[in-house]
Amino acid sequence: MSTFRAVVIDKNESGQNVGIRTFDETDLMDGDVTVRVSHSTLNYKDGLAITGKAPVVRRFPMIPGVDLAGVVEASSNPEFKSGDAVVLNGWGLGETHLGAYAEKVRVKGDWLIPLPQGLSAEQAMAVGTAGYTAMLCLMALERHGLRPDQGPAIVTGAVGGVGSVAVALLANAGWHVIASTGRPKEADYLKGLGAAEILDRSELAGSGRPLAKERWAAGIDTVGSTTLANLLSMTKYGGAIAACGLAGGMDLTATVAPFILRNVALLGVDSVMAPKALRMEAWNRIARELDHDKLAAMTTVIPLDQVLEAGREIVEGRIKGRVVVQIA
Ligand code: NDP
Repeated sequence: MSTFRAVVIDKNESGQNVGIRTFDETDLMDGDVTVRVSHSTLNYKDGLAITGKAPVVRRFPMIPGVDLAGVVEASSNPEFKSGDAVVLNGWGLGETHLGAYAEKVRVKGDWLIPLPQGLSAEQAMAVGTAGYTAMLCLMALERHGLRPDQGPAIVTGAVGGVGSVAVALLANAGWHVIASTGRPKEADYLKGLGAAEILDRSELAGSGRPLAKERWAAGIDTVGSTTLANLLSMTKYGGAIAACGLAGGMDLTATVAPFILRNVALLGVDSVMAPKALRMEAWNRIARELDHDKLAAMTTVIPLDQVLEAGREIVEGRIKGRVVVQIA
């Protein structure tokens, strides 16, 4: 196969254009492993790349798609051989390096991890960067010493991808989960994933007080902006919020009151450049701890042809749970 199908983003003076095209294998970027992609997924960042709403693409032409599962076709990396099932999340895929919405990628073997035992390629992409980031957030809270007997845990953007997996993982770990959403009609969906309470996201909007009533010991925030400021002001003494997202805005106007008067911590979480050992730990825990029925309940599978429309929907906050992109 010297050509293959791929989503390609181009840019000229009149702006960005994106479509499904035939791509020549010789135009792939450098790397020591070539992978036949079977599945990818849709993350918020992929939506930003497809729509051009934020400058996540740093090179043109670009093939978007930050996550892949597939099988090694050729490798000069000693850790991988032809036929190995692999997964890749982040490392600039779909931003600086030609990405996963393609039948083939060429990447650095250092970026790959083996497909975690117990997960199919489709399940691994149902988890994707969103789910693996939710686990990184849970691990950050645990490293901070937080345990379910210290109080509830809140998840913002709960119906979204990171949020849905975060609800399921926290509930499985024994937390009383408060799911914050702007889509109250999805209450049954969230309770099915393990949420004990639903909180309308309007309660966390707007500028609140520096310190409000203490409501949770831990939180996973995908929204940022005033939502994160309000989460902090309502966090119990000694608690922490793991912040990974900006679906509501990149700004953060808060006071230091929760930090200096309640010993509250704000834990930043990045998935893209996370070191390999942390990735492996997160994926191994996901394989062990994420209920497969819950994962199926939050997952929709679409063909590559539908990914452009789905990309527009995710930046508008209209996607529920996780979307797998079936490529082969
Ligand atoms: P989704 O679109 O699936 O979920 C985002 C959710 O946020 C929506 O479903 C909605 O939840 C809520 N939301 C959207 N807009 C607003 C708004 N204006 N105000 C308040 N809430 C809003 O995206 P993902 O789950 O894929 O990603 C979530 C965030 O996490 C993104 O910002 C993404 O960039 C970030 N992220 C960061 C990573 C990292 O490495 N740090 C890795 C992965 C994701 P609801 O309908 O329930 O209210």
